[in-house]
Amino acid sequence: MTEHALREQIVDTAREMERLGINQGTSGNVSTRWLDGFLITPSGVPAAKLQAESIVWLPMDIQEPSALIDAGRPSSEWRFHRDILQSRPDAHAVVHTHSTAATALAIHARDMPAHHYMVAAAGGNSIRCAPYATFGSQALSDHALAALAGRSACLLAHHGVIALGRDLGRALWLAHEVEVLAKQYLLACQLGTPPVLPDEEMQMVVEKFRNYGPRTP
Ligand SMILES: [Zn+2]
Repeated sequence: MTEHALREQIVDTAREMERLGINQGTSGNVSTRWLDGFLITPSGVPAAKLQAESIVWLPMDIQEPSALIDAGRPSSEWRFHRDILQSRPDAHAVVHTHSTAATALAIHARDMPAHHYMVAAAGGNSIRCAPYATFGSQALSDHALAALAGRSACLLAHHGVIALGRDLGRALWLAHEVEVLAKQYLLACQLGTPPVLPDEEMQMVVEKFRNYGPRTP
């Protein structure tokens, strides 16, 4: 895999987010590891206008992008992309969306319980919701990391969703799954509090999921 091919994959992922309806305007962002840093979508560029050259590379120990003269303008959420890739060796790609149904749930700052066995695809018996913090802040990144402990997706209160994976294809797949699960949960809530699957069953499904889901070719 060359750097250019990886940049193209990020562009394709951002376009696919739009096609799947999980990207709202310029709100979504995508990153993946490259060398001793990561490639990330730029700030404020709609998916249709993205080009491989506009993807920004940042070193993993970056503190402020202004320190890099040629870095370009990374997504304002570069902090949580950096912190997730730095602290989660199992994650090689991160996808962030403001997809509508999952965000509606996050507005209530509610974890998504085990209403469906597919919740286990995120690694546990719920998808946690991180407390609110201002976008782009270190506090938001800290909250997200805590909500992602042992999991590969979380909600962000009054904000959106983070999904991570061993590659871009897997992270995108999971981000879309979280949105589908949120739609199902919100519909089920209309008939009352949805019953949930027992913890033992969810643990068993988590084990079965360890090798499930698409890989990026
Ligand atoms: Zn956001």
